[in-house]
Amino acid sequence: MNVVRNAVTICMFVFLLTPSYSFAETPTKQVAIIIDDLGNNMTGTKEILALPIPITVAIMPFLPTSKSDAEAAHRLGHDVIIHLPMEPLHGKRSWLGPGSITTDLSSKEIRYRVEQAIKDVPHAIGVNNHMGSKVTADKRVMKIVLEVCREHGLIFIDSKTSPKNVVSKLAVELGVPYLENQLFFDDVYTTQHIIGQTKKLIHKLEHSNHIVAIGHVGPPGEKTAAILRDFIPVIKENAEFVKASSLVPERQFIQ
Ligand SMILES: [Zn+2]
Repeated sequence: MNVVRNAVTICMFVFLLTPSYSFAETPTKQVAIIIDDLGNNMTGTKEILALPIPITVAIMPFLPTSKSDAEAAHRLGHDVIIHLPMEPLHGKRSWLGPGSITTDLSSKEIRYRVEQAIKDVPHAIGVNNHMGSKVTADKRVMKIVLEVCREHGLIFIDSKTSPKNVVSKLAVELGVPYLENQLFFDDVYTTQHIIGQTKKLIHKLEHSNHIVAIGHVGPPGEKTAAILRDFIPVIKENAEFVKASSLVPERQFIQ
């Protein structure tokens, strides 16, 4: 009897020492926050860069603080991406900024503009679109943008300003690492809306392991930074904050 009891005790002891594989294999949920529209000394830039989490900052090229914002973000350990201005279906061209990609450009000029934007923003690991509801639905233009991304080892993150876009299919065909935005924090500038969207992100985490969400510097910048800061501990209960590059499988990501 003693032998049997000892054997049972040993088995229990071994069981207790064995890692619980079902727990160990549960993937950690991940949130990648992208902040758009840096590069023009926009309101909230300082507060956003000082957030105590890794983020991804999207910097517009050819603007007064494009380079210094990229350098500061890189120094603080954030990911830098190029926030490439792209023609929208509605809205003024003047909102686009310099070096914008429009559907009336020749293929050669589109390639040239993307190349120049890459040169203008140091440390970039990817590209996302500023506006762009017209361009992201245009196969000719997006094919060139994605080809240049591939040549430079850059990922493309679709801000999803148009439901009709062709980007995901083209990115798969061309082998460009691709992510897409799932939620805008501050498409409406009120505190109430930004808090509501942040709670929506927490709710989405119940059904999703990876979330990409976009906020902005500029008019909502300070509010967005303050609300994100307040919600960091709450989101950390459910997920870890990562840079966009962490959501791309390493084998696809050439740097
Ligand atoms: Zn933008």
